Amino acid sequence: MAMHLQNLLQYCARNSLIVEGKACHAQIIRAGLWFDTLTSNMLINMYCKCGLLDIARQVFDKMPERSLVSWNTIIGAYNQNGKADEALSLFVEMQREQSLFSEFTVSSILCACAAKSAIFECKQLHALAIKKAINSNVYVGTALLDVYSKCNFMQEASWVFESLEEKSDVTWSSMVAGYVRNELYEEAFRLFHRGQIVGLEQNQFTLSSILSACAGLGALNEGSQVHTILIKDGFRANIFVASSLIDMYSKCGAVKEAYAVFSDQHSKNIVSWNAMISGFSKHGRCLEAMILFEKMQQTGFSPNEVTYLSVLSACGHMGLVEEGRKYFNLMFEKHAIRRNILHYSCLVDILGRAGLIKEAYDVIKTMPFEATASMWGSLLASCRNFKNLELGEIAAKHLFELEPNNGGNHVLLSYIYAAKKNWEKVAESRQLLKDSVATKDRGQSWIEIKHRVHCFMVGEREHPQIAEIYSKVDELIEDMKKLDYKVQIELDFHDVDESKKEMLLRHHSEKLAFAFGIISLPLGAPVRIMKNLRICGDCHNFMKMASKITNREIIVRDLNRFHHFSNGNCSCRDFW
Ligand code: ZN
Ligand code: ZN
Repeated sequence: MAMHLQNLLQYCARNSLIVEGKACHAQIIRAGLWFDTLTSNMLINMYCKCGLLDIARQVFDKMPERSLVSWNTIIGAYNQNGKADEALSLFVEMQREQSLFSEFTVSSILCACAAKSAIFECKQLHALAIKKAINSNVYVGTALLDVYSKCNFMQEASWVFESLEEKSDVTWSSMVAGYVRNELYEEAFRLFHRGQIVGLEQNQFTLSSILSACAGLGALNEGSQVHTILIKDGFRANIFVASSLIDMYSKCGAVKEAYAVFSDQHSKNIVSWNAMISGFSKHGRCLEAMILFEKMQQTGFSPNEVTYLSVLSACGHMGLVEEGRKYFNLMFEKHAIRRNILHYSCLVDILGRAGLIKEAYDVIKTMPFEATASMWGSLLASCRNFKNLELGEIAAKHLFELEPNNGGNHVLLSYIYAAKKNWEKVAESRQLLKDSVATKDRGQSWIEIKHRVHCFMVGEREHPQIAEIYSKVDELIEDMKKLDYKVQIELDFHDVDESKKEMLLRHHSEKLAFAFGIISLPLGAPVRIMKNLRICGDCHNFMKMASKITNREIIVRDLNRFHHFSNGNCSCRDFW
């Protein structure tokens, strides 16, 4: 009888048969088998597999005797169903009852900590694991380093990683993913190469993480090498990996290669479509983004909020007001997608850039969200371009409240006053700028040369070839001046006198990275640069001229988008 019921329970668990499972439960009670530990464990497992955690818990609570398996089953089920709190409190109860626990229990509880970023509990478990001498168990160790890295404690994570004698490929991929999550891309590369040296077989998770690192650093050569590994190992057809490849290529400025991967992909999912549409959008290839948007629907995929965000920002990049409005309405009316603050942000941007400032302001006033600083900032910038003092003052007032330390806001407002020749107000906002602690992110640019990423700060001094780089910048500027290049001083925010301003502009990080690229790259090779801020007007002009006089393609990825410079023009058509 007991055997028969147990077999039935396992069958119900495997096939998630709730009704039959409950009938079995009734028979078990009738047969008086409910106090049998093995049978109860199977009951718990069956209810967990059917997703009825509350009933599983009732069975568990009524058990006269719980073995380790019962605890592990129910803790594991809580984890799988995203109930980290319940899992943690059950573990506390387990310790109160002084029940034995296993490595499996501890790694399970650590998973719950990872889900909650519970660093305090993680440290306690780490101490407990050391006490019970299970800290070098590969499952416990891997779970530990995963929690540490998810809580941004990378030093601890790396310490656990190094201390593990046995490392599984999950251990390696968790550590690589941890570095990437914390934007420590170079450390991720280093670990990846270490894995290659010890002959570790790379799995799709590690390779996708490394592709994200390549995307983060704009390391195209490194990324193409990973692509080669993927082709060799037959991972290419994997949807998950293919989307990472598309993302990597487009973020490294190689939109053609991204599209090649995308076209080559036999089965596409929403993530691949989104990756490609977003790639086109970031590169200012609005038409392609819109065509793909239509094609996606013809192939039976419905766009989601991510897709719409890409198409809307493409419209913003290209100044397409009518299309922008159309998509904004379509997403709700046709696809019933709830618009979030980012979609509204795009709309405000689209309208503001087109000079429809009043309309942009109406959107901010009537939308169902509180406006963010970046929305007011976008409005203020539009007011500056179109010399709208009235709304400019309103936007600035909100910005001063939201970002009291951002000096750039005072500068923008003072430009509007200056355009209106209100010198008193100009002086006033200049004074306010001096009073506020005007902090501005420091500009930084990256360029990858021969598999190494070189980083340049504004006014860089540390790079070993820095003298050569500065003289190259000077040489380029002299050549440009012959072609009527004028330094656009007014676009720079530094509050210093004019001659110093020109010097500072010369030393913007992207100019330095470019000069280094010209020195190091083979003749005619395209120069790819990444920048952490929005490219300034002067550097934009510089790159246009540079593409002409050096006869090179220049690709600059700034905070918002890509600029493809060639033969004196930019793909953004000076609209960014
Ligand atoms: Zn600049
Ligand atoms: Zn541009």
